[in-house]
Amino acid sequence: MSKDKAFVTEITPQGEDFSRWYIDVIKKADLMDYSPVRGCIVFKPDGYELWENIQGALDKRFKDTGHRNAYFPLFIPESFFQKEKEHVEGFNPELPWVTEAGGEKLEERLAIRPTSETMIGHMYSKWINSYRDLPLLINQWANVVRWEKRTLPFLRTSEFLWQEGHTAHETEEDARQETMKMLDVYTDVVENVLAIPVIKGQKTPSEKFAGAVDTYSIEAMMKDGRAVQAGTSHYLGTNFAVAFDIKYLSRENTQEYCHTTSWGVSTRLIGALIMVHGDDRGLVMPPKVAPTQVIMIPIGPPKMREQVIAKTDELYAQLKAAGVRVRVDDRADVSPGWKFNEYEMRGIPVRLELGPRDLENGVCVLVSRVTGEKKQVPLDNLVAEVQTMLDEVHQQMFERASQFRGEHFFSVETLDELKASLEEKRGFALAGWCGSEACEKQVKEETGATSRNIPFEPGETKAKCLVCGDESKHTVVFARAY
Ligand code: AMP
Repeated sequence: MSKDKAFVTEITPQGEDFSRWYIDVIKKADLMDYSPVRGCIVFKPDGYELWENIQGALDKRFKDTGHRNAYFPLFIPESFFQKEKEHVEGFNPELPWVTEAGGEKLEERLAIRPTSETMIGHMYSKWINSYRDLPLLINQWANVVRWEKRTLPFLRTSEFLWQEGHTAHETEEDARQETMKMLDVYTDVVENVLAIPVIKGQKTPSEKFAGAVDTYSIEAMMKDGRAVQAGTSHYLGTNFAVAFDIKYLSRENTQEYCHTTSWGVSTRLIGALIMVHGDDRGLVMPPKVAPTQVIMIPIGPPKMREQVIAKTDELYAQLKAAGVRVRVDDRADVSPGWKFNEYEMRGIPVRLELGPRDLENGVCVLVSRVTGEKKQVPLDNLVAEVQTMLDEVHQQMFERASQFRGEHFFSVETLDELKASLEEKRGFALAGWCGSEACEKQVKEETGATSRNIPFEPGETKAKCLVCGDESKHTVVFARAY
């Protein structure tokens, strides 16, 4: 077998070893490379462009909901972390410290930010004076560092790229509304842009963000049945306002603490979209964020090449002008079959084939990466046909992922049932929970599954705790998670 052929067939089947499949695919599709620093990865252009397109979809929605971007420093003085007790306890084990700079030992150690509530809290206390300054709605695009013990490219890295929104409000009600609004924005992007169905809900107290009053999340199911927390939104109460003295003069002329929120999604979303949509042939990119949406492949004998390529170039210009992210592969020394395999592996949503006979008939063939369906379309309506097919591919991806999740979502009454379901079927389980940390811990110890969230729409209400059998306080989604 030639080296080129081996390149596209060397993907471990998902059913054989899902983790190896994942690593094979991201390496072969050239999305990332490992760096010499443990747990940190390099985003190669196709991987980074995916992130840029995700950023674009989020950033537009942040701005449409009244937020503005700003940038805060990477280094955070140690004393800032001492101000909010739960926050420091939660993040301390993961903090990297700068102790020396410019050849001198620093008077105060500086943490590399794992998140910016402390720095932003400090700044907000200077910027907010009266109710007229509220709400303050700021987002930051940044890199953060959490020294993770277990890492996996994109899904859990020691340095990752993300956005963190930080807002301050007059009342609890306003802040809670903001927390939910941003959870809805995340749901919109993950479902309608990345074609990943999610479960919205509230985290249990043991899984909430360090320093938050309430944490809400969206959870997605990967193709091996495991969960990925795709985004979080926190209502922080007055915890950080008290710690950093974020006060305002109220309409009644009294000094009040602000109610604050924070919310974030990260480059983990790239890992999620790969694990939700990919198959044994490789990646499947959601059309709305795919760096290349359409790959054009001119085919036919050498004597017809010039004509076919001239038409390809003309159609390329039309598609590009209409805003389609399109590329042409007109290499003569590589067979069409090889190209088909390569672009399937790279997950390009739509392939456009154009040959001499098509040219004569004024048509070309569009092929969906998801279903393999081929559609002959007239060239004089190409832009509209391509746009329709991209929308169809998005829809097919969302439906396929929803169907998979439906087939791997079960309902259990006891811990034994949960164990059996996780082993046999793999997926998410809905179960009753009495609210005690001990029962939650026992689930984790005996099954490896954690509580993902308390869904807003569980579909059914469980009466008894799956561990102790006492009356259930919440109906919870449990799953093994990345
Ligand atoms: P948090 O600040 O812990 O609520 O996390 C905000 C977002 O970043 C969530 O969507 C997390 O799933 C994601 N996230 C947390 N830790 C990591 C990590 N080590 N690598 C990538 N993403 C992460």
